[in-house]
Amino acid sequence: MIVEIIATGSELLLGDTINTNSSWLGHALNEDGYTVAFQQTVGDNPARMAHAFTIAKNRADIIICTGGLGPTQGDITRQILADTLHLPMVENEKAKQLVEAFFAAHQRSVPTESNREWTLPEGSLALENNRGVAPGVALEAEGKTFILLPGPPAEMKAVFTDSVQPYLYKRFGSQGVVFSYRYALYQKRELELENTLRDLVDSQKNPTIAFLIKNGYIEVRITAKAQSKSEAKELLAPWDVIIRERLGAYIGRTLDIGMEELLRDSLKGTGKTVATAESCTSGLVGKRLGNLPGSSEYLMGGIISYSNDCKHRLLAVPQEMLATYGAVSEQVAAAMAEGTRKSVETTYGVSTTGLAGPGGATADKPIGLVYIGVAGPNGTKVYRNELIGNRESIRQGAAERALYFLYKMIEEDKKK
Ligand code: AMP
Ligand code: MG
Repeated sequence: MIVEIIATGSELLLGDTINTNSSWLGHALNEDGYTVAFQQTVGDNPARMAHAFTIAKNRADIIICTGGLGPTQGDITRQILADTLHLPMVENEKAKQLVEAFFAAHQRSVPTESNREWTLPEGSLALENNRGVAPGVALEAEGKTFILLPGPPAEMKAVFTDSVQPYLYKRFGSQGVVFSYRYALYQKRELELENTLRDLVDSQKNPTIAFLIKNGYIEVRITAKAQSKSEAKELLAPWDVIIRERLGAYIGRTLDIGMEELLRDSLKGTGKTVATAESCTSGLVGKRLGNLPGSSEYLMGGIISYSNDCKHRLLAVPQEMLATYGAVSEQVAAAMAEGTRKSVETTYGVSTTGLAGPGGATADKPIGLVYIGVAGPNGTKVYRNELIGNRESIRQGAAERALYFLYKMIEEDKKK
């Protein structure tokens, strides 16, 4: 079943509002097995909106439109849909009841303008909006299904989950499931990965394979479409075997749970503790370590040691070391991790020191060069990373990797 999403609103085109509705809907619909083949974004302009509906109805089975369902003169989506389909606008009894019920529940009288919200293209089914006033709309016309949803994301999601999903299921039945396995690769480049899995890339149909650059790692994702989750898993199994055979040790983790959760599960109940020493990430590692409730069990504290002076005085990094090797060096990363471990008195210390840019590169130290140190009871390890991106993504990538290398050491220590 081919779906087209139309997001309306001039604020989306101006870039003032990020179009989160389309991405959320794309995700939800794909998960339900629908093929979202097209998306349009159109301003609040009658002729262009009508054009968008016309294009969509000629190429999709289901057209889902968000925005423009309020009570103001500018909320014209219902009217434009009626015009496009040559349908009269009529009072919809159920929509009227829903709007009246909303105001009654909030002990307010119904504004006169609200009649716009229950005047719908003939044949419409009104969909309850339990997060706001304007009901959603479902309409079957010209052999296509049209869905209108409110613009505010919370209302859009509520109407979609409460009414549109059941409506589509009733109308079209199960579309099967789309299921993925996702792997995080920290020490391979995208091209290398693609070459390693070339045969899968070339033969992909169902399953499909994708490589996605994330901050600090590459995500390899294989996706299968099937009638059930277990059937999808059967389709994925041989690909999973191939990926594990060829990339084995390079697979840092599978992405079914988050890094924070992984570390929590690894540390909780072990009595082991962690401290941070952050230069280029200036607190991002600590922030993520503390994201989950209960993290106080293992996160003891940290030092944002941005200056050399701070690295020396609070982490006992020797002045000569800083002068000889520079702050962005293997030696300093190791000393920082050991310094925070000692100073905060923890099982593990994790450090970051690098060049996030945009300025500051030298001949032998490019932007994106980040040393990550992890110190533990069985010694210290330092990883040299060359991250690509802007300041923000380099910092996020460095934090992600610091957490990963910490996790790796904790898990390796468990085997000792
Ligand atoms: P509307 O229903 O068109 O009046 O939209 C109401 C509000 O919802 C807008 O001011 C936006 O803040 C928000 N909104 C509308 N469309 C979107 C969208 N596609 N993504 C995110 N927010 C949206
Ligand atoms: Mg709008």
